[in-house]
Amino acid sequence: MNKRKSIALVAHDNRKKDLAEWVRYNHGTLRGHDLVCTGTTGRLIEQTLADKLAEEGNGGPVPRVTRLRSGPMGGDQQLGAMIAEGRVDVLIFFWDPMEPQPHDVDVKALLRISVVCNVPVACNRSTADFLISSPLLGRPYLPIAKDYSGYLDRDLE
Ligand code: PGA
Repeated sequence: MNKRKSIALVAHDNRKKDLAEWVRYNHGTLRGHDLVCTGTTGRLIEQTLADKLAEEGNGGPVPRVTRLRSGPMGGDQQLGAMIAEGRVDVLIFFWDPMEPQPHDVDVKALLRISVVCNVPVACNRSTADFLISSPLLGRPYLPIAKDYSGYLDRDLE
């Protein structure tokens, strides 16, 4: 992982306000990284960052936000593919523990591939606070990947 991280931000509808507040609070740190979001979360995050910058009146650049498809329309799967390809360093995923989602299988798949690929994941605000305040966020980091060669090279006879 480079010094500049690729940080994925996703929130279910009932958690979007929490994520927007967290982004607003941490905008200074997030500006040093690249953000990738599912569609509707991305729209909210772009707006939140633009509002914050306008408030400060410094006219600085808004951090680059890559917006994927909306979660239930394939966005979670796109993000999962990016994780499998090593293109996401950190996942902040405020999923809703109180309501079933139409794309629950995609949510499960996204969380699973993050564990397979040893990507740090925050599913609530406290964990997100710990991740964003980690000294590792701002410097290169070499994750120790689990060795899956036993599985990949298994005998199929
Ligand atoms: P959304 O998707 O950002 O498009 O609302 C979130 C999700 O459910 O993964």
